[in-house]
Amino acid sequence: TGTPDADTAGTPDAGTPDAAGPVPVLAVVGRPNVGKSTLVNRIIGRREAVVEDRPGVTRDRVSYDATWNGRAFTVVDTGGWDPDARGLAERIAAQAEVAVSLADAVLFVVDATVGTTDADEAVVKILRKADKPVVLAANKVDDQRTEAEAYALWNLGLGEPWPVSAIHGRGSGDLLDAVLAVLPDPPPQDDVPVGGPRRIAIVGRPNVGKSSLLNKLAGSERVVVDDASGTTVDPVDELVELGGRTWRFIDTAGIRKRVKGASGQEYYASLRTSTAIERAEVAVLVVDGSQSISEQDQRIIQTVRESGRALVIAFNKWDLVDEERRYYLDREIERDLVQVPWAPRINITARTGWHVDRLVPALDRALEGWETRVSTGQLNSFLGRLVAEHPHPVRSGKQPKILFGTQSSVAPPTFVLFTSGKLEASYERYIERRLREEFGFVGSPIVLQQRPRE
Ligand code: GDP
Ligand code: GDP
Repeated sequence: TGTPDADTAGTPDAGTPDAAGPVPVLAVVGRPNVGKSTLVNRIIGRREAVVEDRPGVTRDRVSYDATWNGRAFTVVDTGGWDPDARGLAERIAAQAEVAVSLADAVLFVVDATVGTTDADEAVVKILRKADKPVVLAANKVDDQRTEAEAYALWNLGLGEPWPVSAIHGRGSGDLLDAVLAVLPDPPPQDDVPVGGPRRIAIVGRPNVGKSSLLNKLAGSERVVVDDASGTTVDPVDELVELGGRTWRFIDTAGIRKRVKGASGQEYYASLRTSTAIERAEVAVLVVDGSQSISEQDQRIIQTVRESGRALVIAFNKWDLVDEERRYYLDREIERDLVQVPWAPRINITARTGWHVDRLVPALDRALEGWETRVSTGQLNSFLGRLVAEHPHPVRSGKQPKILFGTQSSVAPPTFVLFTSGKLEASYERYIERRLREEFGFVGSPIVLQQRPRE
């Protein structure tokens, strides 16, 4: 019926972007202001599509190259199309018709906080008639509380609504997994991304020592300066040789160049940080060890987790850390880094180079964890043991059960659990904890997806 089949959600293995074969096309449709172009930005991981904070702003570019889990596809943003000035619903219907005719799959965006409107219904009619797979994005689900609103969209009859926050990135990984699942099959791929140097983003607050670290790593001479896009001056990546291998440091211009006093500077700095993280495979969060772990540090950690990147935390300025500070730092780590106990931590003094050589082994460990694959057999025998040791608690006479599990992708490790009934959050945390005890996954977030059977 052209709707995504929940059972096929999740992606094939991460791999190299396929050079051969036609690149599948995804059209993004929906009425104005639901967040299409914000979502497109999120999908392409760049700030190319300009989001204007007023409805009806025409955009002159409509198609963008995107990759997710190593698969390339083209995103068509229909937001700017305005063939003529008929009524809103008609216009959107026309837009949907065009999108459906040219795309392999459609991403239909609805504002979950508003619910469905007549204009949405008009699109649904067209999508139902068309023989193209549809993924339904319930946008503006910025937090857990709004999630219930997303599920009301089941009544559109387009299959599972994927709650997402285009602005914050919440849920966008799952959504993209669902999109890939309905796009035409790519050629067979290898398990692990190959080719090209590993991509690292050095991130952290101003003045924590990011550029000092980069300078120590790169030496006084840059090995290669590489213009990432070929057309713009920024961002600039640097290729640096470490431990006999070449690594790509993402957007080093953002680290080396200090932008001062501009309004919106903080906003752009954080945008830059998020973009660098999205483009990287592993993020190195540099923290000033002599100062308290800040909210900003935690926000960056949150971004890394949400983007599903590997993480290493470097406590810099260790020369300034005395015994008393050390005592408090240990407590701060316990309190403020509870979400990422799995991230390798190193203590360094970038200024002198002390222990900077510990970075590469930490990166290697994190990337290894990030790409760890567990076979379906191993996983299910583990799940059997886990449930036997500690079954899900019974709630009002019912006990959710795990029927079967599979790892749908690596980078980050993503697991799909087919269940009867929804597993509680605390039980999910238990599963994650046990997965880590059993299989490692050092340095990497783990994604658990539930597919409750009706
Ligand atoms: P489009 O016209 O459908 O392409 O929508 P835009 O992407 O231009 O977004 C319209 C408005 O919704 C903008 O003000 C966005 O900042 C806002 N918006 C987009 N996505 C989200 C989201 O996930 N959460 C919230 N709270 N606002 C969003
Ligand atoms: P960035 O803004 O994060 O790139 O930080 P910088 O690398 O520019 O460093 C900010 C300040 O911290 C500079 O004065 C550095 O000399 C100083 N700094 C960097 N690393 C260390 C370190 O390991 N120990 C000490 N004591 N100071 C450092």
